[in-house]
Amino acid sequence: MRKLNIFFDVDNTLIMWNGKLRNHAHEVFAELRDTGHTIYVWSGVGIRRWDMKRHNLDEFVEDYFIKPLEDHHERLKTYNVPVVPDFVIDDHKTVVDAFGGYHIPDVAAPDDRELLEVLARINEMATLGDVEEPGEADVAVSP
Ligand SMILES: [Mg+2]
Repeated sequence: MRKLNIFFDVDNTLIMWNGKLRNHAHEVFAELRDTGHTIYVWSGVGIRRWDMKRHNLDEFVEDYFIKPLEDHHERLKTYNVPVVPDFVIDDHKTVVDAFGGYHIPDVAAPDDRELLEVLARINEMATLGDVEEPGEADVAVSP
């Protein structure tokens, strides 16, 4: 399984217009971290550590960055982002188009399950190519 660098946007992705955390955020963050992925949080309006602390998500987050709003790849260096995102979750499509990931709706119904779908997509991407036939695990693989 691949270990992925996962970048979450904050406003209208994790924290909705009413200040409430999107459903399933805590369990999905915990699951991603326990699976060995690395979670980063970035935002176009600044470093959002305090917001993640307030919602008890900071312990799962490796680091925080300012998100480039244009020239996304070129500006990673400008904003001192040390890794290239493998999977981004954002309500702005341009960011998802630039790096790949999940374009999440910017509004959430009370029974919103978008982050569970995000988790499923990440698991799918991480295991892509991991084809294990029955009994294969017992066979030594030569380089
Ligand atoms: Mg946003």
